[in-house]
Amino acid sequence: MKAIRIYEHGGPEVLSYEDIPEPEPGPGQAVVKIEAAGVNFIDIYFRTGLYPVELPITNGQEGAGTVTAVGEGVAGVSVGDRVAYTGIHGSYAEYAAVAANRLVKLPDAIATKRAAASMLQGMTAHYLSRSTFTVDSSHTALIHACAGGVGLLLVAMAKKFGARVIGTCSTEEKAAKATAAGADEVILYTQQDFESECRRLTDGEGVDVVYDAVGKSTWTGSLNSLKPRGMMVTFGNASGPVPPLAPLELTKRGSLYLTRPSLFAYVASREDLMWRASDVFKWIQAGDVKIHVGGEFPLSDASEAQTRLAGRQTMGKLLLIP
Ligand code: NDP
Repeated sequence: MKAIRIYEHGGPEVLSYEDIPEPEPGPGQAVVKIEAAGVNFIDIYFRTGLYPVELPITNGQEGAGTVTAVGEGVAGVSVGDRVAYTGIHGSYAEYAAVAANRLVKLPDAIATKRAAASMLQGMTAHYLSRSTFTVDSSHTALIHACAGGVGLLLVAMAKKFGARVIGTCSTEEKAAKATAAGADEVILYTQQDFESECRRLTDGEGVDVVYDAVGKSTWTGSLNSLKPRGMMVTFGNASGPVPPLAPLELTKRGSLYLTRPSLFAYVASREDLMWRASDVFKWIQAGDVKIHVGGEFPLSDASEAQTRLAGRQTMGKLLLIP
């Protein structure tokens, strides 16, 4: 079968499209024929080595498709079931062997490709808005990269729960996309100082929560945009990792809270995984949350897809089709 393998860390050129043996299901595993694999920023961090991983790996953390074989002791999924999963290396491939207890069966109304586009980023937006900081109508949230994969979903979910949403992004086209997803105000942080704009839009008060996965370039401005006792959620490094912080910096700005969450701690139990996945699918079916696929690429073009994602040229979700 074809797969995208990584043998050394580096740029998009280290993604190798090659033939490898089709996987057999081990005990507790199911083999999934991948219909679509989600492209996520985390794939780039594993490629560059920002997130440590023992090589070689098959790249890709998200896939959806059909179960073609199950191993010993598997209950709950059978051959022929349509499923999706995230958090396991190897989805940039025609087939993947996956721990069966990480698979989520798809409701009939959710097309397989849509599921591939909603697992990782959808459940991320879910935990950020439902668990890390539970937004409601009393809150104003600042969401950076609001037209990205996570961004558009987080905007929609924060609006669903009644928050006022201030988004940031780089272009007018992206701003229009975020506005259509529900953002109340969008700041072009490539043209305007988002910190002072955010203060102006909140009558000098600041926001209750900042969701910041841009990282290095927005870090200080994000801290400065919070109201006293606000919550800083730093959850990514699209522009580079954030520098170390002295706790007194939080005191100086009015007793801020700071957290650096990761999806995988929020879906570690089967119960949490099923709660988040079923909410995301339910909200998609209800039309509260729209999945925007910003591009589909053949599996062999994985390097092109990652180049565009890293180059800020995308909106919503990118998919690879094996
Ligand atoms: P996006 O589709 O959001 O793409 C990243 C966006 O970040 C770009 O489109 C761009 O938007 C913005 N950006 C700002 N500065 C830069 C820069 N220097 N280089 C590249 N992009 C930049 O990607 P994802 O939805 O896949 O992920 C978004 C972020 O969320 C990532 O940091 C990712 O690691 C993080 N994440 C964290 C998770 C967690 O649980 N901790 C889970 C999932 C994602 P613009 O052009 O508008 O500035």
